[in-house]
Formats: sequence, C-alpha cells, structure tokens
Amino acid sequence: EFHKSKGQHILKNPHIIESIVQKAGIKSTDVVLEIGPGTGNLTAKLLEVAKKVIAYEVDPRMVLELQRRFQGTPQASQLQVVQGDVLKHDLPYFDVCVSNTPYQISSPLTFKLLSHRPLFRAAILMFQREFAMRLVAKPKESLYCRLTVNTQLLARVSHLLKVGKNNFKPPPKVESSVVRIEPRHPPVQVNFTEWDGLVRLCFSRKNKTLGAIFKQNACLDLLEKNYRKFLQLEASGATAGRGHQGEGTMEILDQKRLGLSDLADRGKFKDYVLNVLREGDFGDRRSSKLDQEDFLELLARFNAAGLHFK
Ligand code: SAM
Repeated sequence: EFHKSKGQHILKNPHIIESIVQKAGIKSTDVVLEIGPGTGNLTAKLLEVAKKVIAYEVDPRMVLELQRRFQGTPQASQLQVVQGDVLKHDLPYFDVCVSNTPYQISSPLTFKLLSHRPLFRAAILMFQREFAMRLVAKPKESLYCRLTVNTQLLARVSHLLKVGKNNFKPPPKVESSVVRIEPRHPPVQVNFTEWDGLVRLCFSRKNKTLGAIFKQNACLDLLEKNYRKFLQLEASGATAGRGHQGEGTMEILDQKRLGLSDLADRGKFKDYVLNVLREGDFGDRRSSKLDQEDFLELLARFNAAGLHFK
C-alpha cells in the first residue's frame, strides 16, 4: 500500500538511521526540519536528540500513522507535523534539516533550503546516488553539471554514506547516498538569476568551447536584447553606483562600449561579446572544466561590459 508516486520507500535498517542521526551532529537545543517522515523511523531517533522536530508530510495516511505512533509518548510535545507539500509551504526557522528525501523533489527542495533565511547549519539528506554524485562532482568529472556549480556556489557539499536498495522497503530501483550540505557563510555576493542564466548557457553544450556557444544566434539574441535594456537603464541613470560595472573589483573593460547605433550591425555585437571571452582567455575553454571562480570571473567580465543574462 505504499505510494510509488510519492516516493514512499521506508528506511528500515536501524544502523543506517543511527548513522544519519549521528552524522547530523544535532544539539539538544536544535530545531530539526524533516521532509517526508513517512512512518517515523527517522523521526523517532531525531526526537531523542533534538529540542524539536518539525516534519512535513504530504500523505494524510502517513500523517495519521505518525500521530498515532507518538501520541502519549514523552516526545509528543517535541514533534510538530505539518500535513502538505513541503514545496508549497514557507519553511519555519530550523537549525538542521535531516531527511530521507522523496527523490522526485530533490532539486527544488535543495534550492528551497538554500534560499531559506536565516541560513541553517547543515542539511543531511538521502538522495538517489547519481543526484548525490552530481552535487559533489568536481570540474572534469563526467557528472559535473549545472546542478553542481549552482549548488556549490551556495554550499559546501560532501558525500557521507552509500546506502544500498535493500535498506528500504520496498526497495527503490536506484542506489542511494547520504550527503551533507552546509550553506556558505556569508553567502557569495552574486545575483543568482544572472549567475544561473550564464551557467545555463554555458552548460547548454557542456563540451563545446565557450567561443562556440557564445557565437550562436540564440545566445546573441538574448544578450543583445538585455544589452539594449542595459543601455536604456544607464541612460536614465538607474545603474549609477549599483555595481553593474564591477567598480574597484577588476580592470576589465579594454574595449569601448557599443552604443545603440552599433547594434544595427550583428557582426559588431558578436565581436564585442567574443572579445569579452578573449580578454579573459575563456574562448577556447569548456564549461566541463571551469570551476566556481572561473564562472564568477566570467560573469563579472560580462556584466562589466553591460552584458546580462536575466
Ligand atoms: N522518512 C521515511 C523513512 O525514511 O522511512 C520515509 C521516506 S519516503 C522516501 C518519502 C516520504 O516523503 C513519503 O512518506 C512521502 O509521502 C513523503 N513526501 C513525498 N513528497 C512530499 C512532499 N512534496 N512534501 C512532503 N512530503 C512528501
């Protein structure tokens, strides 16, 4: 009677549960957020060490089972169960998130947690093995991708534990892994929408050179549209002092900015864009081999030239 669509695979191996809770480093003053408590095997262990557990569970039958399990126990008052889809709720304050995550929401859940404020200390999450390996991948590894750089921009991620299928009931089709996600303190100062726009483009063809990607018309169309907006904003004075030119950070702009009238000539605009890549020696490089710092530098160079990705 488990719901496959809700990713209901109950963790039944008590050693794994112990290990997860121990690695979470929970203090007796901590509020713990749990996503998808299911029948409450992990919840029971969390209640032994935390001050409070707030658990989001979408399946009303599981919520009932959970309430029945803890009703009348000394721990009942430490547990708050919220019935509903965690992605549709504003999260409360929490110190640590521990969860045997429903795999179908892995990615949105990760970014929801990382955009939550105030920042939490750590999240200890069970994911599908491949998803976990993408989170911890390094440049040049085959699983290094947009998910990797976006996550590592916001957090340090480490692999903690491999968990085989047979530790679950019913066993899922895929292997699992537990990872630790620690948000960066303080958060990196970057416009995440701009960052994601750039990274999306760069990874649209992760093994092509950036030079090849940025000379495509679809890419130039987007940059030109945004460049026109940028020129208008600049003319109206709206960009003054807002850091659009990366003042004081780098000596970037060797070339002259293009004016509106230059945009009639696509060749000119293309040279302008490719020259930003050339100045930073990025033209012949591939996304699969660039690290965090490279992407940040690339974004700063583009923005300094008035090129935006939103
Ligand atoms: N934590 C339990 C355990 O380890 O035994 C159960 C884990 S099971 C993989 C995932 C649980 O998340 C299920 O109980 C499912 O109903 C719940 N769930 C799925 N999607 C959810 C969502 N969007 N919000 C909250 N809970 C969800």
